Amino acid sequence: MKIVTELAPGVNDDVTAVFTFKLPNGIAARLPNLRLAASVGAGADGILSASDLPASVHVTRACDDGLGLSMAQYVVLQVLRVFRDLPTLERQHASGEWIRLPIRDATKCTVGIMGVGQTGSVVARTVASLGFRVVGWTRTARDESDFKIYSGRETLPEFLGQCDFLVCLLPLTDSTRGLLNRSMFATVRKGCYVINAARGGIVVEDDLLAAIDNEELSGAAVDVFDQEPLPQSSPFWRHPKILVTPHSAAQPAVEPVVDQFIENMRRLSTGEPLMHVLNRDLGY
Ligand code: NDP
Repeated sequence: MKIVTELAPGVNDDVTAVFTFKLPNGIAARLPNLRLAASVGAGADGILSASDLPASVHVTRACDDGLGLSMAQYVVLQVLRVFRDLPTLERQHASGEWIRLPIRDATKCTVGIMGVGQTGSVVARTVASLGFRVVGWTRTARDESDFKIYSGRETLPEFLGQCDFLVCLLPLTDSTRGLLNRSMFATVRKGCYVINAARGGIVVEDDLLAAIDNEELSGAAVDVFDQEPLPQSSPFWRHPKILVTPHSAAQPAVEPVVDQFIENMRRLSTGEPLMHVLNRDLGY
């Protein structure tokens, strides 16, 4: 196998597979023999957004058991920071104040997980194991033993209306782009705290800011943005009720993901079905 890390100018007719986070528009004409576009990340929206990608190209994504655990650590960090009021404890520590904070009952606090897939399922089980009430929201209906799953757009108001924390772990697709907007925030339980660790395009940033400023939401932890790195001019950086993290909630381990890519190259050559292929119609 010949491996290149940069495409040559013009047409690269010897390239049959790419392993990347993002494919720019217009790339297809330069890669006429492309058969596999493998995402180095769990989401392949950066590949599917290349509008001229031929339907014949297989698109795969990174799957890794450790990814769900890292994501669960990130979500638990954000939920407990707010639920146990870590900012107040840190302020009290800085000023040498011994003031005991009330301890809230986690069973009366509902964490809603939008997207119960590779990462969301581990997040849901982990958060439930800490005593929180968990509800999930998916595209297709199914039963889970530890928490209730709502599915389909029509169940969204009922799902959102009970969330004290709303965790977004959806893929960015035509159906989810801009889903969390002004009208959705109006149906969320008042004072809900939003955690977006999925993709920036799912949450309308101006609507999130407005919902926090008019106190429909109590705040947000945001790991992903329309534009990354988040520009210094973004009001998210200076907002007292928002915590920005730099798209670092979770990351697939290199070794299993490279192994999957190499195995898929082998399968491509023998005609066997590939692993972790995306449904191009659904976008995930
Ligand atoms: P999966 O594809 O494994 O799971 C997606 C989930 O979303 C599924 O439960 C699916 O429902 C649900 N879903 C998809 N479309 C819809 C819809 N239209 N309506 C309702 N539910 C829908 O995703 P991952 O868990 O691997 O990743 C989740 C997100 O997290 C992605 O956006 C990914 O890019 C991002 N990510 C971010 C990281 C970071 O560091 N910030 C790291 C890793 C991932 P169903 O079960 O019915 O199919």
